[in-house]
Formats: sequence, structure tokens, C-alpha cells
Amino acid sequence: MTDAPMPDKPVVREGGTPDLFTKFDPLIKQREDLLATGQQDPFSLVMEKVESPTVAICNGNRTILLGTYNYMGMTFDPDVIAAGKKALDEFGAGTTGSRVLNGTYQGHKECEEALKDFYDMDHAMVFSTGYQANLGIISVLAGKDDYVVIDTDSHASIYDGCAMGNAQIVAFRHNDVEALEKRLKRLPADAGKLVVLEGVYSMLGDVAPLKEMVRVCKEAGAMVLVDEAHSMGFIGENGRGVAEDQGVIDDVDFIIGTFSKSVGTVGGFCVSNHPKFEILRLVCRPYVFTASLPPSVVATAETSIRKLMHGSNKRAHLWENSKRLHGGLRDLGFTLGTDTPQSAIIAVIMPDLEKGAAMWQALLENGLYVNLARPPATPANMTLLRCSLCAEHTAEQVSEILGIFEKSGKAVGII
Ligand code: PMP
Repeated sequence: MTDAPMPDKPVVREGGTPDLFTKFDPLIKQREDLLATGQQDPFSLVMEKVESPTVAICNGNRTILLGTYNYMGMTFDPDVIAAGKKALDEFGAGTTGSRVLNGTYQGHKECEEALKDFYDMDHAMVFSTGYQANLGIISVLAGKDDYVVIDTDSHASIYDGCAMGNAQIVAFRHNDVEALEKRLKRLPADAGKLVVLEGVYSMLGDVAPLKEMVRVCKEAGAMVLVDEAHSMGFIGENGRGVAEDQGVIDDVDFIIGTFSKSVGTVGGFCVSNHPKFEILRLVCRPYVFTASLPPSVVATAETSIRKLMHGSNKRAHLWENSKRLHGGLRDLGFTLGTDTPQSAIIAVIMPDLEKGAAMWQALLENGLYVNLARPPATPANMTLLRCSLCAEHTAEQVSEILGIFEKSGKAVGII
């Protein structure tokens, strides 16, 4: 599949105005070419029925889920479901309002209390998604004369938070402590600086060297924000993330997270010990100018977060699953995103998009769902089959997954 040539001239509609969709023509052509080969669209799969955190019905077939970020399997936890149903009955289907108007219910405060307890921090602010938490916090913290320093492989929500604010943006090479230090040293000593890092990077599943990075940031007088979207609930003794695991959580100024992964529902948050943190509720636009989460959602999130505080057995099982899948795929001859298993994300690197799409379909037809990830979301233009394990995957399911990879990889000619 190659990029389609741009049409000679933009399509001009009656009345002489250019069609604003013309710029999408190369992408439309690329998609049409792919579907013309008989390939199923990897970006519009429908889950017809979801039976558990690890099994769904797709195209009428029982399918093992290995691409949902549902790390701790909380989506079907009976206590979580009961809390959601109770809140739905007692508080209705939605708040119909912003957190700063009619949209703060008892449940939102209880959810924030659960986050404060989970992280042992003074302040917690719940947003409607993790995407909005990054947008809001990054754009509001760093003002016109300040600097935001980011890793080049940052999540789209971090880039978009930068674009929404007025600060100067400086990027450094992925996970490169020296590059970060060099960038920081070049900034004016008296300028405000915010360094935004992630605990686990979601494309390759690699972990940041936060211990060294946070030290370098503190030496430069920068504040540090760590997005722990893919580590909360799993990594660290209490599941607080990579900053906890590497012993630097007390030096991190802000942790951003999401309810859409280990917590098993939807929503985002920021926790902090900064004494002036609460003022952000009045100035963060993605907090003020949108409706708050439904009562049932914050009730499920609160219950799930409190249960995750006692999730050490599940965490141990999830590590076992990740190690077994990583070792098994490597032994089968697949090329993986990391040499060793560093998180619950295991990325299988595909030679190109055509082979990646064919492999994705073969896996699906054999009863396994993974994420197909492609540029521009991926680093270095890679096509990836991203696998994310769940603490509810059984040892038998991991064996079954490896069997499906072997059969599909041989059929597509990847191994
Ligand atoms: N940060 C990172 C690192 C993510 O991977 C994601 C989602 N994949 C988000 C933030 C956004 O989370 P949410 O789904 O809650 O919007």
C-alpha cells in the first residue's frame, strides 16, 4: 500500500468553494485499496457481545481479548457492577452539568477521596477522560513564558495539551536522560518549566527511567508530571505506577491517570500534593466547560480504585502472564518492542502495514483480538500488533494465545 497521489486539483463544489475533504483523499484511497484486497477494516471491529474481561463475540466467533488495556479485569467485577447499578438507581443516568455548576455529586467527591487514599496524596481532581486531564493540566500549568519539555514518543493527549496552551514546547529523544538534561540546561534559569513523562509508553510497552529523569528535572528546578495511564493498578508495590516502583513518587509534582484501563470504566484524573492545587478547578477549561461523569461511572471507579489497593495477587498473576507471553512470542520467532517484558503491553513488530493487517485478520479469524497500531500513532513509522494482558487471563488462555500466534504467523509468512 502506498500513499495515493493527491488529485491534480482540489474538488471544487458548486459555487466555487473547495471541498474541505480533499485533504483526506490519500487516506481514503489507502483505506479503499486495503479493503479491496478482502481485508476486514481493523479500525471498525464490532464487539457483538462481551462475556468477560477476556472473551467477546466478534463476527459471530468466540474471541480472546488481548488488546483492551483492561489490565486488572475490573470491568466485570461484581462489586464494581453493583456500585454502578446502585448509583444509577439513586442518582439517575447523568449529571447534565459541569463540575463547577450542578455536576459535582457526592459520588465525584467520594471518587476523589478514593484517589487520594490510593496515591496517599493531598489532592485529586477527576476529569471526564484521561485525554481531557492531560489537555487541561498541561495547557493551564505552563503559561506564555514557561516551557513544557516532553518525550518525542508522548501520547497524543500530551501533544494536544501542549498545542492548547501558550508555552514553548521542547522535545527530547525518547527515554534519553542525557537528551533531557541537555534540553533543560539550555532553558533560561528563571523560566517556569514543566517536564511531562509517562511511566509506561503505550506503543512499545517500555518503561521510562524515571529515577534518573526526575533527578535531572529537580536539579534544573522543573516541575514533573507523570502520566501513569498504563501502570496504575499494576506497577509498583501499591499499584501507584512506575514513579512508585522506582522510588521517586514523592518528587513527582503531578500524576495523571485514567479510569479507562486498570480501573475498568471511563474518566481521568490528576493527583498532587501541591498546596495550591485546588485552584485548577476554576481555570482548567476541559474541567470547567464539559459535563461531569455520570454518577454510575464515578461509583464504579471509586469501588474499583478501592479494590485495586488490595490487588497484589492480581498484580503478581498479571506479571506472570506478561512474562509468559513475552517469552513465548520471542521463542516463536516474533520481533518484539522490548527485549524483556517491562509492562503488560507486548508489542509485536510487523514488517509493514499490509503484513500487519493480514496478521491482525488471521489472528481474529483464529479467535484472538489484538490492536493494530500504525503510523502516525507509532514511533519510527512502525506497524505494531499491540497485545495488552489482563490479570483475568488464565494460564490456559495464554497458551491458547501463543498457539493462535504460531498458526497465524506461519499462515501469513511472518515466522
Ligand atoms: N495517556 C495515555 C498515555 C494514554 O495511553 C491514554 C489512552 N490510551 C490517555 C492518556 C487517555 O486516556 P482516556 O482513555 O481516559 O482518555
